[in-house]
Amino acid sequence: MRILVLPGDGIGPEITAATLEVLEALDARLGLGLELEQHDIGLASLAASGSTLPDAVLARVTQVDGTILGPVSHYDYPPRSEGGINPSAELRTKFELFANIRPCRSVDDLSVLRTPMDLVIVRENTEGFYSDRSMHAGSGEFMPDADSAFSLRKITRRGSERVARAAFDLARSRRCHVTAVHKANVLKLSDGLFLESVRSVAAEYPDVELRELIVDAAAARLIRDPGSFDVIVTTNMFGDILSDEASELCGSLGLGGAVNAGQDLCVAQAQHGSAPDIARLGVANPVSLILSAGMLLDWHGARSGRAELREAWRLLDTAVGATVGDPTTRTRDLGGTLGTAAFTSALIETLIKEL
Ligand code: ATP
Ligand code: MG
Repeated sequence: MRILVLPGDGIGPEITAATLEVLEALDARLGLGLELEQHDIGLASLAASGSTLPDAVLARVTQVDGTILGPVSHYDYPPRSEGGINPSAELRTKFELFANIRPCRSVDDLSVLRTPMDLVIVRENTEGFYSDRSMHAGSGEFMPDADSAFSLRKITRRGSERVARAAFDLARSRRCHVTAVHKANVLKLSDGLFLESVRSVAAEYPDVELRELIVDAAAARLIRDPGSFDVIVTTNMFGDILSDEASELCGSLGLGGAVNAGQDLCVAQAQHGSAPDIARLGVANPVSLILSAGMLLDWHGARSGRAELREAWRLLDTAVGATVGDPTTRTRDLGGTLGTAAFTSALIETLIKEL
């Protein structure tokens, strides 16, 4: 399996190094035949190539079997015209990676809540309330005068139906219910269309139950009764916010793995951002990107029929659970003392015992 590795900004290089170490350990024992190819993007490539996402890197994305994308620090980027492209948004839109799949599963005492959570947020990834995705790049926000600013929110039937299908397919492999989270009571046209689209897809899945919930109530329900969710499908920004909430309730944003999935391409990417406040300190929790990479192996394993890749993901997921479940092998965000490198060694040790 050929994997493109793009470490990104902030804590990106640290958690990517940890992820590669884990993948190499898995490969050495399971013979997965991983071919890892690393390129600079983000601020690291801006000086050298004049772009945060060089064309040569972009071209490789469609030639490999999967990509691992580190977090990117778009706040610090110059304007797009000066090469400051947001690599994450660019990959999601250009390659129509329409479903951002973000599992959130609580681990024993790490969970902020007393009740367990095991849900997946399927976030629409290519439209919504993001100025770089609403019309032509960057035109979704504008100021008609110096004292007023407007943002456009784009919702389409095609975008809503395809993300809904991803959610219903996923629910079939889980507890068979999908909650559509929306604000159609206020955003009558846009979320009205989203909801109508989800309902029409639901009709194709009589075995999967559809529930509907307004986003503010969903934010509250995540705290009061997280066990009542299986798969959540929602629009871009609601999914972004709710997944940070859900991951943090599970113990830390640093546990949140995710993939951006399209028809034929998959990009592994942690749920969180580049965490500039802890960059280069060697304390970041690499679990988010390690789990994301594992999900990528599983995605490719399912499509290619390579069962050993799916098995590798299962083993990795179990080893991560065991390592973060042990109070002596936790990173600082989980109340532990281990740095990124020491945690990674502990995880690999657990993994080797399992293999
Ligand atoms: P973005 O806009 O790119 O989503 P953000 O402003 O939401 O970025 P994050 O980078 O996601 O911010 O970080 C939010 C908080 O979570 C920060 O305090 C950061 O240090 C912490 N954090 C994020 N990822 C990790 C991690 N892997 N390990 C430890 N702490 C993390
Ligand atoms: Mg964020």
